[in-house]
Amino acid sequence: MQVLTTVREMQEYSDRVKSQGKTIGLVPTMGFLHEGHLSLVRKAKSVTDIVVVSIFVNPTQFGPGEDFHKYPRAMERDIDVCLKEGVDVIFAPTTEEMYPSPYLTYVNVEGITDRLCGRSRPGHFRGVATVVTKLFNIVAPDKAFFGWKDAQQLIVIKQMVKDLNMRVKVVGLPTVRETDGLAMSSRNKYLSPEERQSATCLYRALLHAKELIEKGERDVGKIVDAMRGIVEKEPLAEIDYIEISDADSLEEISRIKGNVLIALAVKFGNARLIDNMVVSVEG
Ligand code: AMP
Repeated sequence: MQVLTTVREMQEYSDRVKSQGKTIGLVPTMGFLHEGHLSLVRKAKSVTDIVVVSIFVNPTQFGPGEDFHKYPRAMERDIDVCLKEGVDVIFAPTTEEMYPSPYLTYVNVEGITDRLCGRSRPGHFRGVATVVTKLFNIVAPDKAFFGWKDAQQLIVIKQMVKDLNMRVKVVGLPTVRETDGLAMSSRNKYLSPEERQSATCLYRALLHAKELIEKGERDVGKIVDAMRGIVEKEPLAEIDYIEISDADSLEEISRIKGNVLIALAVKFGNARLIDNMVVSVEG
């Protein structure tokens, strides 16, 4: 396994393996790897010849006052984990390598980035779309693997790839959870033991919403209120948003119909956790 840190080395590597007729799978991450990331790596290994994991805590997707500086980092451990998984290359550039001064170009996906996490984190998806575009240009992957854990991110990237005719297939994979249902996330490290216990309320709220829909409830307001009730029982939890939207357009809806995305963001002290579920209703 190689650890490459410059754009040039990464592009030369990519050119070389492509000239040998090999396919490249890219797993973009911010590091502090866990089983959620590894599920993407394993899928990539099973469908592409060469697997590149990028590890880059991208400053442009963090707002002022967010956790860019505190974000957990564990490069040595991540290298060991990737080695064990049979990753071919870790691409771990510095901030200066990715954003040399002056840096003036950004990618903006409109509309769908204004809602959900985009509303609480203005500029977040502009940073995500920009860094993912740069990674696609540097690594030139045939396929790129993303988790449904970050549903809006996946939907934004799919839209960007379609709109800009990028020659990469975006693959979305299911959320990997702890045994009690908490979605795995590098940010779970921020939770105190009490917060960690309460944090299962995100998944419990999602399961309850799904159950209500399965029992025939179609009124979005009622479902959101029931979810709110579950989260508000936890004194350490502070709701950022709970929303049900059309899973394709991310438009707000008032009645459950077709594919719906049930999504929530909840803060526990410093940690802002997100989770979601897609539910499909016939007719
Ligand atoms: P991050 O390092 O948090 O930016 O995540 C990198 C990639 O891993 C993104 O595509 C995430 O959606 C995905 N990911 C993070 N957590 C999980 C999880 N629990 N299950 C599946 N994919 C995940």
